[in-house]
Amino acid sequence: MTAINDYESVIGLEVHVQLDTASKIFCGCPTVFGTEPNRNSCPVCLGMPGSLPVLNERVLELGIRVGHALDCQISERVKFDRKNYFYPDLPKAYQISQYDMPVNGPGFLTIELKDADGQMIERKIRILRAHLEEDAGKLLHEGIEGATLVDYNRAGIPLLEIVSEPDLRSADEAYAYLISLKAILQYLEVSDCNMEEGSLRCDANVSVRKKGETRLGTKAEIKNLNSFKAVHKSIQYEIERQVNLVENQEKVIQETRLWNDVKGQTFTMRSKEEAHDYRYFPEPDLVPFTISNEMKEKLRSTLPELPRQRSKRFQEKFGLSAYDAAVLVQEKMTADYFEECLKAGVPAKLTSNWLQSELMALLNEKKTTLKKSPVGPAALAGLVSLIDKQTISGKIAKDVLPIMFETGKSAEAIVKEKGLVQVTDTKQIEEVVERVIAANPKSVEDFRSGKTQALSFLVGQIMKETKGKANPQLANQILEQKLK
Ligand code: ADP
Ligand code: MG
Ligand code: ZN
Repeated sequence: MTAINDYESVIGLEVHVQLDTASKIFCGCPTVFGTEPNRNSCPVCLGMPGSLPVLNERVLELGIRVGHALDCQISERVKFDRKNYFYPDLPKAYQISQYDMPVNGPGFLTIELKDADGQMIERKIRILRAHLEEDAGKLLHEGIEGATLVDYNRAGIPLLEIVSEPDLRSADEAYAYLISLKAILQYLEVSDCNMEEGSLRCDANVSVRKKGETRLGTKAEIKNLNSFKAVHKSIQYEIERQVNLVENQEKVIQETRLWNDVKGQTFTMRSKEEAHDYRYFPEPDLVPFTISNEMKEKLRSTLPELPRQRSKRFQEKFGLSAYDAAVLVQEKMTADYFEECLKAGVPAKLTSNWLQSELMALLNEKKTTLKKSPVGPAALAGLVSLIDKQTISGKIAKDVLPIMFETGKSAEAIVKEKGLVQVTDTKQIEEVVERVIAANPKSVEDFRSGKTQALSFLVGQIMKETKGKANPQLANQILEQKLK
């Protein structure tokens, strides 16, 4: 498809995040995940007549914390409204949400991603609002043949819905937005953001328009997105589908579509013609209230260092590149681990490389996580320190790391035990170089007649002879001298 380059895609994301409170938003029921169905319920969250909701103040605090982190205007007056629709997972037949007086007004989220030339760029994505609401129950279609079961444990779990302006321009940007948002929510400790357990959910609104056009095209809203990868793939799919329609003089219909991860396609769920009119009206059982400046400021003062601040600090203090810093701070655990390593006085860039590539690859291979890693920060720093002091080469270190992982021994102990200390004795290397030159007259001739690749072959032979222990720079240097 060549026409796709003539179009610009426009994306807005609606993210629902479960706020990590001990009890539900309007009643005292516990919020723990995985309890026996309908155990965590009471007359309030079951919508029994005569029961009354009471706002959990902790929910409000967490909502405002997020608002601050997204530079939102925190509202002075806050109100809850009823959003009416009929569905079996909603016991009251309305959801208590916020319509025109949400807790958080406009703000923004800065995303970072690589541009076409591989440079890190920043883009400010405007946030329209972030409002509080209650979660609905869950329908289970398996268990009893031909029946649908309802579990109300989730009904009344506090949610914050974060709505972006349609400022995102590609699937990559949408992905970067989610990564940044998740990092912020984790740093704030307001949610565990576990997409599998549904504590973070995302709907993607997608439209396309000819480049240069300023009016927005008709959007489709994609639901049933179970991972960030699914968000990315579904947006990419939807952009192509819509461009194809427009190119074929057909219309994009405003509708809700469901992503099918197995088929890799979106399918019509319901069009807006049959969409609900939610008949919003103020929740009479919860009176509007005021958020004092004092409360706002108190909550602002409890904000932790956020991912972007941490990334800036890593760049300034440790001289890391914007990309390395951005990757390190994405998961708080990784950034904490990294800073812990540096306490041993090892160089930042080398540590970052070993943490991000070698250790992460090994953890992936062993299907475990940094949190459970048998190689802790002090141990990794020990290994990095040996490389830094040139006691061992990077190549040998790659063999040492898995042994550390298996045995729990320190890098130093393993190196000593196995006699892996790097050979930096010039005399010793010279001997090997001479042997290698004598044994490979053809390559030597090749090199002298200008085939420079022959040099790496000869260096390879030296490394082989020394079982990888020769200092590679030194081996290279001595070889070149001898060949002159
Ligand atoms: P709805 O009433 O259908 O929920 P909203 O105006 O509330 O629509 O917007 C919901 C989300 O859709 C927001 O994230 C917004 O940025 C995004 N959005 C709105 N219009 C468009 C469009 N034309 N293309 C892409 N996204 C859009
Ligand atoms: Mg919507
Ligand atoms: Zn309850």
